[in-house]
Amino acid sequence: MGEVNRVIVIGWDGAGSFVQSSETPQLDAFFRRGASSLTTQAVMPTISAQCWGSMFYGVTPDKHQLDNTRAEKERFPDGSPYTSVFKLARQQWPDAKLASFSSWEPINYGIIETSAGVHTVSMPDAELAAAAGAYIQLNPDVKLMFVHFDLPDAGGHRHGYNTPGQWEVIAQTDRHVAIIMQAIEEAGLLQDSLIIQLTDHGGGGAAPTDHGSDHPLDLTIFWSCAGPGIEPGSEVPAELGLIDTAAVIAHALGLMPSDSWDAKLPLGLFK
Ligand SMILES: [Zn+2]
Repeated sequence: MGEVNRVIVIGWDGAGSFVQSSETPQLDAFFRRGASSLTTQAVMPTISAQCWGSMFYGVTPDKHQLDNTRAEKERFPDGSPYTSVFKLARQQWPDAKLASFSSWEPINYGIIETSAGVHTVSMPDAELAAAAGAYIQLNPDVKLMFVHFDLPDAGGHRHGYNTPGQWEVIAQTDRHVAIIMQAIEEAGLLQDSLIIQLTDHGGGGAAPTDHGSDHPLDLTIFWSCAGPGIEPGSEVPAELGLIDTAAVIAHALGLMPSDSWDAKLPLGLFK
């Protein structure tokens, strides 16, 4: 595979697999450029802190022990035996630029370890898209960056998941992500970046305006990536789950995965 100099992960909170019913030209083009799935499985319970936690830490929620209340109130404990992929990158590169832009602030102070030394920015989605795009253009040497948009989940809670109201908000998020993709392209970073676009959970399974259950509407998510070594227009291997994202990021950056991880690199994702 070609050289990957940075990984950029774009998270759409609570979008499930409902992107397929929404107007998302940016994401459609991204799927054509890389590997995609509309049937990937999140982790139980299908709640943001648990699911994003499993994505960053590569372990099941019973191990990282994050939940929304904890993430909102506490910093991730220094004594945890689990290592996020951000921390892994920090251990490898003491001076590397690592960044997290999130419209749900607990990701930046409650989920990612303080000791990972990540540049964090928290602001609402529209401003966040502009700020993240500007950051990319000024910091093309960023190694690992997470951008998180909360609007799809807010739309699901307000209008019901997988409804025209949420589809409209998902379409809006696609326009926000397009700002980031344009910044990546204009900075000349498309060729040597692995870009992942995914969501943490769906909703509307057990309750129309909520999530958390093991109903397929809550548990089924979209997952996609594009960049060096990824076959354009291909399908993501069926064995990949949300929890494996940490292993995909580590592999792309050339990091040894943490021994503590449940995350595994699916065979056949990279050529
Ligand atoms: Zn939610």
